[in-house]
Amino acid sequence: MRDRLSNAPQRCLAAKRPATPLVEITGLCKWYGEFNALFNINLSVSTGEKVVVCGPSGSGKSTMIRCINQLEAHQAGTIKIAGREVTPKMKNLKDIRCDVGMVFQSFNLFPHKTVIENLTLGPVRSRRLANSDATELAMHYLRRVQISEQADKYPAQLSGGQQQRVAIARALCMKPKIMLFDEPTSALDPEMIAGILDVIIELAEGGMTMICVTHEMGFARKVADRIVFMDAGEIVEVAAPEIFFNNPQTDRAKLFLSQLLGH
Ligand code: ADP
Repeated sequence: MRDRLSNAPQRCLAAKRPATPLVEITGLCKWYGEFNALFNINLSVSTGEKVVVCGPSGSGKSTMIRCINQLEAHQAGTIKIAGREVTPKMKNLKDIRCDVGMVFQSFNLFPHKTVIENLTLGPVRSRRLANSDATELAMHYLRRVQISEQADKYPAQLSGGQQQRVAIARALCMKPKIMLFDEPTSALDPEMIAGILDVIIELAEGGMTMICVTHEMGFARKVADRIVFMDAGEIVEVAAPEIFFNNPQTDRAKLFLSQLLGH
């Protein structure tokens, strides 16, 4: 579902999108002390849409997606998930973390728990599932990421690629409305990267809404409905992949792409 208007300025995109986007970020600003890490971020993501976020290191990509599930608190602007505003209140946070699955660069599994325990913890605690139902759910998603035979191992006994599969399955066990990926392949050995991207591509093709921060531009071309390019804490360009890669509009995006793609 490519957006014909993807090369239009952001304000036009906002006007043409459905009334209640799944994620709606308006005027988002974030400071770390005196440092302004995000400035006036506006972004709407519709149900089923796949957005790839790219940009130079330190441009605020990770901070932006961490604000969506409040791993970072913002100081100005609003974030809404399915129409409900995200706030740091405990009850709200719990609901958000059920709706928003997050996969990190460094997996973030509990090292002292087995794979199956890592997967069942959230559904039992937050979704109040019975242990047996949570285990069934966990095995379903472990099979889906092709790693069910590792269920009783500890994270340290797995390769990086296997750990990331577990992390993806863990997020899916919460039945999220949207998945956020923060450079999911950056910590992996090169031979593991394609397998993880294939898992994410399969999820995308299954209709999962996602925002993915990545430098994997082949993946971005294949999966993204829109590319969001960030620099220095701002969204600088939003465009369909074929437009972003073939005809970037700003000098900043041109420089980024020339450095990344080597031409
Ligand atoms: P990206 O994901 O694009 O590499 P980040 O969102 O991680 O960028 O960081 C954006 C900016 O905010 C960077 O300059 C980074 O140094 C700064 N930053 C990130 N996290 C913190 C923090 N916890 N405290 C202070 N500065 C931070």
